[in-house]
Amino acid sequence: MPDAARTGERIFRGIPVSPGVCRGKILVLGKPHGDVISHTQISDEEIPVELKRLEQALVDTRHQVLEVQRQLTEGLGANDAAIFDAHLLVLEDPSLIDEVTKLIRQDKVPAGYAWQQVSEKYIKTLSSIGDDYLRERATDMRDVAGRVLDNLSGRETNLDLRKLKEPCIVISYDLTPSQTAQMDKKLVLGFATDSGSRTSHTAIMARSMRIPAVVGLHNATHEIASGTYALLDGYNGQIVVNPTDQTLFEYGQLVKKRVTLEERLRDTIDKPAITLDGVPILLSANVEQPSDTEAVLASGAEGVGLFRTEYLFINRDVLPTEEEQFQAYYQVADALKPSPVIIRTLDLGGDKFLSHLNVPQEMNPFLGWRAIRFCLQERAIFRVQLRAILRASVTGNIKMMYPMISGLDELLQANALVEEFKTELRTEGIPFDEHLEVGAMIEIPSAALAAESLARRVKFFSVGTNDLIQYSLAVDRLNERIAHLYEPTHPAIIRLIKMTTEAGAKHGVWTGVCGEMAGDPVLTPLLLGLGITELSAAPGAVPQIKYLIRRLKMTEARELADFALGCESATEILTRCKKLATQVAPSLFENFAP
Ligand code: PEP
Ligand code: MG
Repeated sequence: MPDAARTGERIFRGIPVSPGVCRGKILVLGKPHGDVISHTQISDEEIPVELKRLEQALVDTRHQVLEVQRQLTEGLGANDAAIFDAHLLVLEDPSLIDEVTKLIRQDKVPAGYAWQQVSEKYIKTLSSIGDDYLRERATDMRDVAGRVLDNLSGRETNLDLRKLKEPCIVISYDLTPSQTAQMDKKLVLGFATDSGSRTSHTAIMARSMRIPAVVGLHNATHEIASGTYALLDGYNGQIVVNPTDQTLFEYGQLVKKRVTLEERLRDTIDKPAITLDGVPILLSANVEQPSDTEAVLASGAEGVGLFRTEYLFINRDVLPTEEEQFQAYYQVADALKPSPVIIRTLDLGGDKFLSHLNVPQEMNPFLGWRAIRFCLQERAIFRVQLRAILRASVTGNIKMMYPMISGLDELLQANALVEEFKTELRTEGIPFDEHLEVGAMIEIPSAALAAESLARRVKFFSVGTNDLIQYSLAVDRLNERIAHLYEPTHPAIIRLIKMTTEAGAKHGVWTGVCGEMAGDPVLTPLLLGLGITELSAAPGAVPQIKYLIRRLKMTEARELADFALGCESATEILTRCKKLATQVAPSLFENFAP
């Protein structure tokens, strides 16, 4: 960009996770993560600006500390509040402030960096002295130094995302799925995080809510200050800070191209998902809340392939009652009837927690007390949910599936509980569908390997590729540093899926995919070729998948799958997938780079 240097345009690249482009003011959330603030060089003209920012941050921090002290005095009494006197002294310490000022002037560094360098040095010195009193002062210093840094970056620490004052682009080191679920779409234009990857539940939630999002930006929260004007590009995974007119123009063109494509895709919405050679595919959508049904209907999906019920449980202070859950399940099934609605039983744990349930912190939450493991031990919670699902099954076409089944034992235990609660309902004279179909998610490698024995006890399989990939390849699905190792086309994944569809077919059990692989049109032919007959994706991804299916021949898909099953390289498989997908539906893969 010729004028980029003049206007200060900067581009931060990350992982695109939710399509769309938005522009607005940045709001940086959360505590700084890690301890290094970037050491960029400032110009001579910027020195007074940085000195002013430092002064203002010290004044703001002083006000905040005085306010905390006032509240404490009211609540606890003057003695406890006096500990904050030490914080106030730090803010007035002339040698500390002189040293920071000198560093800004002489080394030409931003105020945040200078403040952090000097305060860290003081903290280290105080902590290394073998004196309890001085060690305490180091703690005070750390606390107040953090507040100053927050103020320098304009960072909001404990902001409730439901209470934003104006539209903005949120950036944060991380966001939990429950924080994301709280976002008001009118106020959060888009969001970005330093951490995360494509299959984190936060990213999945962004796609579901259709909020443009970028993750894996590494250091953006340290380098971008609140109030900065920026453009977020959820197609290509970047944030452009202070975009030039040229950049804005190019993005205008990109958005026009996308609108044209979306109009073309709209034509297929009412048409069936059937391949060119006449093979029908059940194309469904994933939902997180009952209100998502509207988006499902608008997307042209034929039902719900995954209802992530845990979102009924988070962001609240008490567990949802049987009646509340019944209403939610009934509502979705009724709105979509006669199309199927697959309700997944509670998948708490991993990256989804309830603040009000006292679940101990675990070293490896994704390998821990999660999903069916949690439900089989917390039977009272499971009972309420199973009764609600059974009761709702009187309407529409409800099916139910269990997450994280690792082998036969868990499946048998869960099925036994379902039978127990059916008996309960019968005794109480409460109606339910006696023939409710029950399936198992295949998302742990052991389940794929044991698919034959599972297939004898279920009506369908749904492959949760998000977890299947994470567990098979030992790649944490949340970790941006190893996101490049998270390979859906890894030969091991291809074989596990094939093993599942084969075991299912042998016992008359159909196999679907409800993980994010189902929403990637590049991978649609491969999945169908491997014997998958149902795909369930975020509503926003459904039209493009249908568009591609309607242009694909099953014979081509099977050829691709045969190639993949004989291939040793994830990259080669992916290249072949891209080749076929681009050949059958080129307009889906036009260059959408700005
Ligand atoms: C999966 O693991 O692929 C899946 C669909 O479940 P979740 O993403 O909710 O873990
Ligand atoms: Mg899963």
